Amino acid sequence: MLSNPLALIAEVTHRCPLHCVYCSNPLELAGTPSELSTEEWTNVFQQCGKLGMLHAHFTGGEPLARTDLAELISAARAAGLYTNLITSGIGLNEERLQALVDAGLDHIQISFQDSREQAANWIAGAKAHTHKIELARAIRRQVGEKKIAFTVNLVVHRQNLDHLEEMIGFIEQLHPERVEIAHTQYYGWALANRAALLPTRAQLEKAVAIVAEAEKRLAGRIRIDSVVPDYYAKYPKACMGGWGRRLMLINPAGKVLPCHAAEVLPGLSFENVREKTLGWIWQESSSFRRFRGEDWMPEPCRSCDRRTEDFGGCRCQAFLLAGDATVTDPACSLAPSHGIVESAVREANADAAVAQPAPASSFVQLQNANTELWSYRTNPE
Ligand code: SF4
Ligand code: SF4
Repeated sequence: MLSNPLALIAEVTHRCPLHCVYCSNPLELAGTPSELSTEEWTNVFQQCGKLGMLHAHFTGGEPLARTDLAELISAARAAGLYTNLITSGIGLNEERLQALVDAGLDHIQISFQDSREQAANWIAGAKAHTHKIELARAIRRQVGEKKIAFTVNLVVHRQNLDHLEEMIGFIEQLHPERVEIAHTQYYGWALANRAALLPTRAQLEKAVAIVAEAEKRLAGRIRIDSVVPDYYAKYPKACMGGWGRRLMLINPAGKVLPCHAAEVLPGLSFENVREKTLGWIWQESSSFRRFRGEDWMPEPCRSCDRRTEDFGGCRCQAFLLAGDATVTDPACSLAPSHGIVESAVREANADAAVAQPAPASSFVQLQNANTELWSYRTNPE
């Protein structure tokens, strides 16, 4: 018996004022004219409520680029969903924050690229760091009065892992309840920039020790969630808690996907909320059924005891790295194609150089100065 989904990931827009080099958005971004309207999102949230879903995660792009964000949050809250805003904070001031809280915002997650201003702006491809600090302080004040929960996200990689200790100290000053230390996932722009982002083994080992020490020191004050990057793990992650098992993602144009990268998979077509109901898509669509359960699994997954824990890993990673979505995730040490990941890791460790932030006052200058190192995420038309 198939359970209903637990949560909706609402990519309300792909527009974003930042250009993070680790962005996992697809290289082909959904254009502004195709975005779902306020009424269409409201209808989606009502359907989610009827399906008994619990959470709506507002993400993008930058959700604050939607001028109707307060209305969207209010509609999700009215449908009984716990609302979480995942944001860079650009586009938010105290007044707008208050309006979002009044609309029913339960939880806010702000991402930081680094603790050092120049490095943070270099990674984001935009001058955003100082504003984020001001905003984090405003949230803390707001949280005190209104009790919305506050998480800081820190995406880590080769270019910032060497000062992880300093970054954790910096975040501590912002007083979140939780810190998510997320190793870069290699999809979209991050995959295109992998050579500049994949850490060395030595960096990773040091980072694991720093996180363990911080967990002890901050116990009872700040919760730290951190996962080892799957290029260095023995087994892959249970991507999205398994294909079509827990989550539905709707992209800005209304396409319903089992995960944020699924559009790269050839031979699958994804339904749109403009044409089908969420309930039908969850139960009946060929895209959600394609990799659900175990029938699709090849060996070694099919006879592996871990298949009910990691579900054979990530289908998109299998396609992106091995060229075949139906094979065991190459991140798994048991996968026949694991050599692909081993060779990327070998290369990352052969050249241990870490780049230095390029000082620049504009995105164009940053782009010009860093063409050799990486590509900045662009914006949709
Ligand atoms: S560019 Fe940065 S802030 Fe914008 S969506 Fe991508 S990761 Fe998020
Ligand atoms: S063989 Fe398949 S099921 Fe087993 S650990 Fe690897 S990915 Fe998971």
